[in-house]
Amino acid sequence: MKTTDFARVKSVALPKKILKLALILCVVILCAALLYACNRYKLYFVLGTDLEINTEGTGGSDLTERIYEYIASLENVLSPSIPGSDLYRINNAAENEPVVCRDATMSVMRSAELAFLLSGGAYDPSVYPLVKLWGFDSEAFGKNGQGAEVSPPSDEEIAAVKRLVGLKDAFEINYENKTITKNIGYGGAMLDFGGVAKGYAVREALRLVGANQRALINLGGNIGVTGRSYTIGIGNPRPADELFGKLTLNAGECVSTSGDYERYYTLVCDDPETGEKTSYKYRMHHIIDPRTGKPSGSLSGQSGEETLISVSVIAADGALGDALSTAVLVLGKTKGSELLNSDEVREFGVKAILINASLDYQTAGGLGFSKS
Ligand code: ADP
Ligand code: MG
Repeated sequence: MKTTDFARVKSVALPKKILKLALILCVVILCAALLYACNRYKLYFVLGTDLEINTEGTGGSDLTERIYEYIASLENVLSPSIPGSDLYRINNAAENEPVVCRDATMSVMRSAELAFLLSGGAYDPSVYPLVKLWGFDSEAFGKNGQGAEVSPPSDEEIAAVKRLVGLKDAFEINYENKTITKNIGYGGAMLDFGGVAKGYAVREALRLVGANQRALINLGGNIGVTGRSYTIGIGNPRPADELFGKLTLNAGECVSTSGDYERYYTLVCDDPETGEKTSYKYRMHHIIDPRTGKPSGSLSGQSGEETLISVSVIAADGALGDALSTAVLVLGKTKGSELLNSDEVREFGVKAILINASLDYQTAGGLGFSKS
């Protein structure tokens, strides 16, 4: 009797416990499914680089797609190598022929011009003829490949091409009429937004993120976050692919990095220090000093201590930050930090980390940075 009672009690108690367990399991599965539905990670390829998007939160499951589509739409406007883009039309126009541009082009131009003025021309979007001369346009670089051995252009070639570079001399920009015109004598001038467009794209894409959402957008190392703060790793320039350190990116901030390790050739030339006619091998990277017409750093006459090999700039205005990272790399350690500490730049709430050829680093604008 007792046994039966016990058995009965057991037989009633068992399904109840299972029911409870099943309920808990359902809740866990539901939460996981909900979390999965809200948290998304997507990887795309656009503007010649990887686009990584992490989103969290509700209200717009197609957010990653919308961000991708927006950035892809910019490529057809801003890429100098796509026929019909604004930059393609500008670069192929005759002197004195106004080219009517789309809003995005004029908006990028504003940031580019601001960076040009702030940096005294170290960042100059009209540098494209020199970028092409050194083989760093997408077409030539795609053919030659990273690290390929190349010979440098001659001093005469550099001087001839450098004559076409200089935003203020070469172009007339009319924001009201939305036109960009090559000035007389500058028929061969060309624009390149390679140092500003990715930061601009990230800055603008953050606007697509809703109030209940959080997102991290990484377009080829130009990262923007919104909704919450994120910890961001800064890559080690030597050896590449390792972590140099970490920083916190607050909601609404972007970080852009310019480095000598992203696109480079091996230059075979005379030893720049002794002038010896040997097959001296030198890393020749894609950021050109518009004042010398040569890649920045020792090729442009900077000492080892002055030569920066990586600059990350943090700013709410991702376009300005992107252009300034290029400018500071060109300017080198002393002039670069002077620029970052100037009142004009501080006004934009810019922070930065500068790494030189000896892997010494310094920060600007009160950046909190922890070294790995
Ligand atoms: P990345 O594009 O590799 O992230 P940057 O933001 O520094 O690096 O941009 C470098 C690109 O900007 C080059 O590939 C070239 O197209 C262009 N560029 C090179 N030198 C300059 C310069 N002094 N001013 C403006 N743009 C430049
Ligand atoms: Mg840049």
